[in-house]
Amino acid sequence: MFTAKSASTLAFKSISRTFSSSAARSSKVLAILYKGGDAAKQEPRLLGTVENQLGIRSWLESQGHEFVVSDDKEGPNSDFQKHIEDAEVLITTPFHPGYLTRDMIAKAKNLKVCVTAGVGSDHIDLNAAVEKGIQVLEVTGSNVTSVAEQVVMTMLTLVRNYTPAHEMIARGDWQVSEVARNAFDLEGKVIGTIGAGRIGYRVLQRVLPFEPKELLYYDYQSLPKDAEQSVNARRVEDLKDFVSQCDVITINAPLHEGTKGLINAELLKHFKKGAWLINTARGAICDVDAVAEALKTGQLRGYGGDVWNVQPAPKDHVWRSMKNSLGGGNAMTPHYSGTTLDAQARYAQGTKDILETYFFGKAQKPADIIVGVGKYESSSYGKR
Ligand code: NAP
Repeated sequence: MFTAKSASTLAFKSISRTFSSSAARSSKVLAILYKGGDAAKQEPRLLGTVENQLGIRSWLESQGHEFVVSDDKEGPNSDFQKHIEDAEVLITTPFHPGYLTRDMIAKAKNLKVCVTAGVGSDHIDLNAAVEKGIQVLEVTGSNVTSVAEQVVMTMLTLVRNYTPAHEMIARGDWQVSEVARNAFDLEGKVIGTIGAGRIGYRVLQRVLPFEPKELLYYDYQSLPKDAEQSVNARRVEDLKDFVSQCDVITINAPLHEGTKGLINAELLKHFKKGAWLINTARGAICDVDAVAEALKTGQLRGYGGDVWNVQPAPKDHVWRSMKNSLGGGNAMTPHYSGTTLDAQARYAQGTKDILETYFFGKAQKPADIIVGVGKYESSSYGKR
């Protein structure tokens, strides 16, 4: 733990309401970040780590604030539990989520604002934050291109059966038919996104040059006509109908009550047999066992992504080792798609901007506000 007390879009989906807030002169800011180890010591651009502290310690301290940084987030004796009691500002990251539960919110006597260094605030009990008047802000858009690129990469990795081909080479073998038997082209496939927001739309833009048979999307609302036309995408309003038409599905919706367990054994039955599923949104949108089973039976040919229902994922998590019947179909990684060094620079700067705006009592950027004082401001979490 590091602690010190100093002396002192998609533009077309933006939200219009703004508000301002004011803070005490000297505030306690708590950040729950991941441990970067040697990598973070050697690479200062790993800003999202405990070691490099989003690059904001000296700035915060020069303003007279106390800054506590730790990766210790689990259990009743964790730094998170201890410091949440009197922190005014909480900074968390989706990559090492500090789960701010309703119980913790009840204990957080002084908490006014939560800032997600990145995108995705489902690790915070948003309903409890609304009730307690705690604002929840995120650095909207900061890593959406990073994730969209990863989605396209994961699609290609799965569809082209890349990982088994690479593993074959690494172990010294050479048997082309063994890997070609499960390799396909992205060209000519029906590709669909669940959620056509900032990331989902960027994925559609990026896969268009691969000449898919069709691009589909499933979302609460239609894209604006010009946006829809520029990627030549068609909205399908019924989820079962949507999944039954897609060869490749990518999930790009937030985790909330309406998306938790959305991809379950029942829905998987409606998928095209042998479809590929990519989830870089949130692990809990998919039922862990149902996905593993679908891969085993061939209902899914592949599953890939970087998000897990619990993070860090336990060593024996079935998604680490699951395979299709031909020994491939797994493109899982740790949660890192939205934390490239480019993304870290953007969300570290965005976090600082949000804090500065808060401390000076100015209005936050509307698109960054998930929960305002006592009210949801973003529709993305299923509230409208
Ligand atoms: P966004 O711009 O808010 O887009 C999310 C879209 O999902 C919105 O269009 C929203 O619709 C839609 N949606 C919400 N619930 C839905 C449902 N039940 N079915 C279909 N669509 C639904 O957010 P984003 O920037 O694209 O990010 C999306 C998610 O990606 C984040 O919430 C986060 O969980 C994840 N993410 C992951 C990483 C990573 O490193 N792996 C990084 C960044 C983000 P409305 O706007 O109409 O409500």
